[in-house]
Amino acid sequence: MSDVFNFSAGPATLPVDVLRQAQDELLNWNNQGVSVMEMSHRDPAYVRMAREAEQDLRDLLDVPDDYEVLFLQGGGRGQFSAVPQNIAAPDSTVDYLDTGIWSGFAIREAEKFVAKVNVAGHVKEGVKGKEIQSPDDWQLSDNAAYFHYCPNETVDGIALHDIPNVNAPIVADMSSNILSEPLDVSKFGVIYAGAQKNIGPSGFAIAIVKRDLLGSPQKQVSSIMDYQLQAKDGSMYNTPNTFAWYLAGLVFKWLKVQGGLSEMGRINHEKAQLLYDFIDKSDFYRNTVNPQYRSIMNVPFQLADDKLDAEFLAQAEAAGFKGLKGHRFVGGMRASIYNAMPVAGVKALLSFMADFERSQS
Ligand SMILES: *Cc1c(COP(=O)(O)O)cnc(C)c1O
Repeated sequence: MSDVFNFSAGPATLPVDVLRQAQDELLNWNNQGVSVMEMSHRDPAYVRMAREAEQDLRDLLDVPDDYEVLFLQGGGRGQFSAVPQNIAAPDSTVDYLDTGIWSGFAIREAEKFVAKVNVAGHVKEGVKGKEIQSPDDWQLSDNAAYFHYCPNETVDGIALHDIPNVNAPIVADMSSNILSEPLDVSKFGVIYAGAQKNIGPSGFAIAIVKRDLLGSPQKQVSSIMDYQLQAKDGSMYNTPNTFAWYLAGLVFKWLKVQGGLSEMGRINHEKAQLLYDFIDKSDFYRNTVNPQYRSIMNVPFQLADDKLDAEFLAQAEAAGFKGLKGHRFVGGMRASIYNAMPVAGVKALLSFMADFERSQS
């Protein structure tokens, strides 16, 4: 296992310690004599585990008391429709920043549920590469029910590192950057994330919702997506994905053992810096994002000669570096370096990249 490093964008690598623990207790969880997957979500032992996972997540992110933490289903895209249904009445206007592929999908989904989706700002080509329009140039609505953005665009490797300063409640799709560094949750109305990048198995999602946004009288929302109903029922209105919740709980405990989010942030910045420094020094590899907007989780890179892409990927795979192929919409390569990717994995990749460059010159 240790000779493969998995750079997949998602579903992504999980901490080996977590997988080992899950393996050890797969057939007999918590001395119950059955797997955690096989027992009622109402069983006191399961409920205890589930509440502990919530508390660990609250501790990690320092979630203020006036926020609900919800464990939901339907992944990141499920939340693309849950957000407008919960937070906006059908006749309202909402503001969205369009910073990449995932923002685009979120916008098209919101258009089904609200009268007007105003695209307030875009990505653009700047002198230093791709960047996000400056907030001074955003066209915000006066009466938006919320402002939505994706702080880390997973496909494009573009990030907005500063939390926007806007009047409307901020909704953020943090599917690929949640738990990657400390975060001031109090600045947000809703934070949501599909689980398969930094939390656990796919199909699962987390939403952190400020309580005063719950229960718009005009909202029309399907029950399993209803934040208020799920909050009232402890995220067990319907049978939750019990295994994913359990695994997420193990990941939260692992993060605490690593030293929490300030330590994860330090490591994540170190990994990203190693990659970007190497790529920037090379004429063989390049990254086209303005350094100020570069993601610390997803590092896309291209070969100067894209005819070598297939050879690069084949040799990388053979050398134990998995998941480096760029998203099918953009091509090229991408190294996703979520929390579970150790510094050693990045260093090994850099040494492979240097060898490949040498072998081609
Ligand atoms: C992966 C991802 C999604 C989609 O998640 P699904 O669980 O496949 O629906 C949404 N937003 C971002 C930013 C992502 O990285």
